[in-house]
Amino acid sequence: MKIIYSCLDDYDMAIDDFIIEYETFPVIEKDEEHICDYCKEKSAYRLRKTEDVADPSDDMV
Ligand SMILES: [Zn+2]
Repeated sequence: MKIIYSCLDDYDMAIDDFIIEYETFPVIEKDEEHICDYCKEKSAYRLRKTEDVADPSDDMV
């Protein structure tokens, strides 16, 4: 998963998780069209990697 969806409450946790998993700071975009990955409420933001296009060796496990 390259995108983490988060509501306002879980925003800090999402950033922490993202940095631990990808060892980089996420791009944060407003996104209210999805579901929070933590509490299943409506999302407020999505966090994604910057180098999505420049990473052909994607681990599709
Ligand atoms: Zn949440």
